[in-house]
This record gives sequence, C-alpha cells and structure tokens, in this order.
Amino acid sequence: MTATRIDGKAIATDLRATIAIEAEKLIKETNVVPGIAVVIVGEDPASKVYVASKGKAAKECNFHSVQHTLADDVTEETLLSLIGDLNDDPAIHGILVQLPLPDHINESKVLNLIRPDKDVDGFHPINVGLLTAGERDKAMVPCTPAGSLILAKRVLGNLSGKNAVVIGRSNIVGKPMAALLLAESCTVTIAHSRTKDLPDVVRGADIVVAAVGRPQMVKGDWIKDGACVIDVGINRIDAPERGEGKTRLVGDVDYDSAAERAGSITPVPGGVGPMTIALLMANTLTAARRSAGLDDLDYASMLS
Ligand code: NAD
Repeated sequence: MTATRIDGKAIATDLRATIAIEAEKLIKETNVVPGIAVVIVGEDPASKVYVASKGKAAKECNFHSVQHTLADDVTEETLLSLIGDLNDDPAIHGILVQLPLPDHINESKVLNLIRPDKDVDGFHPINVGLLTAGERDKAMVPCTPAGSLILAKRVLGNLSGKNAVVIGRSNIVGKPMAALLLAESCTVTIAHSRTKDLPDVVRGADIVVAAVGRPQMVKGDWIKDGACVIDVGINRIDAPERGEGKTRLVGDVDYDSAAERAGSITPVPGGVGPMTIALLMANTLTAARRSAGLDDLDYASMLS
C-alpha cells in the first residue's frame, strides 16, 4: 500500500482564505475587527521566525495585528503589566506569548494571567478544563492538536470507535490531542517515554499521532495496514547529502517506511506545521466572534 499524502500546507492555505473572507464579513456586519497581539521576549531566532509568520498570516486574514518585542532582561512585572493592558484592550481578541520565556520569568504566572477568552493558544487552566470536560464550544483549543484533528477527519471522516494512539503527553500537544480524539469517540491510548513495548501499542492504532520530538522514531513496521499517521514532530537533522553543514527537517515518523503501510500520512514539513498557524487565526476569529455574541464557525466543514 502507498499512503495518501495529507497536504497540510494546501489545507491550511484553504483555511486561511476562508478565515479572511469570514473576517471581512464580521467587520462589515459588526464593525468588530479581529485583533491579535503577539508578545515575544528576547532574540531567540526560531521564535522570531514563528512570530513573523504569525504576524504575516494575521495581516493576510484581514486582522488587526500588533507585536510587542521585549528585551530578554525585561522584568516579570513589566511583562505581566503588558498582559494586563492587552486583557483590557477591546481591540485585541487574541493574546499569544511566544514560548519559551527566559528563565527569570515564571511561565505559568504569565500564561495564567491571559484572559481565558483571549487565550488563543488554549493553555489557560480554564480552557484546559473546558476541553477536558467536553465543552469544546466554550473553550479555546490548542492550535496544533486542533489542526491535527482537522487533517485526520479530512481523510477518515467520522472517527467514532477508532483506536487512536497519541505518542507524547505534553500539555501543548499530547494531552489536548487525546482530549479531542476522546471527544470524537475514539478509544484513546496516550503513550510516553515510560510506555512498555511502544511498537506493539502503536500496531493497534487506526490513528497514530506522534508528538515526541525524536527524529524518525516511529518505524514503518509499527504501523497497522491502512492507519492514518499524523506526524507532529519537527526535528532538524544533519543532511550531508545536501552539502557540508546542511540540515533538513524531519518528523517523529520515518516517513518512507511508514508510507508503505499507512493509508494516509502527513509529511514534515508541509503537514501539521502550517495547520498550527491557520488554527491560531481561526481561534482569533472565534474569540472576536464570541466578543460580538456570534456562534462559532465549523471551519473543517467550510473547506473545499
Ligand atoms: P515535549 O518534549 O513537551 O513532549 C514530548 C513527549 O514525548 C513527552 O511527553 C515524552 O513522554 C514523550 N517521549 C519522549 N521520548 C519518548 C519515547 N522514547 N517514547 C515515547 N514517548 C516519548 O514535546 P512537545 O512540545 O509535545 O512537541 C513534540 C514534537 O512536536 C516536537 O518535535 C515539537 O517540535 C513538535 N511540535 C510541532 C508543532 C507543530 O506546529 N507542528 C507544535 C508543537 C510541537
């Protein structure tokens, strides 16, 4: 079997275009312009790239977008006071603090100060609780798992009764992914670094979500015939075949061997990554719509 390649990049482009149209409609009908504030502390090159692409996507979606860049020796107090101002600013519907923060700043103190209804990353304990309690319609859902779910549903349709194995138990990806799959009535296993006989656990999965951070760890002979494989991992490895000192990005799944067994699989790059930014835009539009008293849109059903 050769797997269908799930083109996350194309689906994310489609989703961003839908969001841009819906933002335009919202502005015309209510005068509410979706607003997002991205806060970055320090000069981490990878963080700067992420923040720049989020700002660009926001502009393309017709949003009001502001960036606050703080020096890496900024005090925690100054950062908390900025979050307080953004919480009170009616032009801002979504607040995102780019992680990681410098060591002298208490990350959870900062994230917990963000108003839950403006928490477009979905990391606030209120949003974690709502998602876990099955109240997704009131929660802000973390972007990477929400994007991964859209990709799985596009190829599989109804997920009810499917065996799903999520490898990784982080708060950002693994745990919310498991909560989303459970809400779709999957039978969910969360595997992690202490799981015994991981290949065997994965062999029982109709849906595999790999969020580990270990390059090409999941091998083809772990994959059940026809399974849907969602590779969240982003790992940079040496690529001497491209020239001296060159590198390339790979996922947590060994794509070539897994594609021989899987029914469908996301590539890295071009799979889950672009969906994450698109879902950040979707969450911002959702926050703006909720502020105007409007219902949530079902983005997955609006894609072409
Ligand atoms: P994390 O380091 O917080 O969590 C990794 C998890 O993997 C842990 O729960 C750990 O128990 C588990 N693990 C580690 N070694 C294992 C092993 N040998 N067997 C089984 N489980 C093991 O990472 P994270 O933030 O969840 O990110 C995971 C990966 O996803 C990383 O590569 C990260 O770069 C990527 N990521 C991608 C996006 C995206 O937009 N595509 C977003 C977030 C994270």
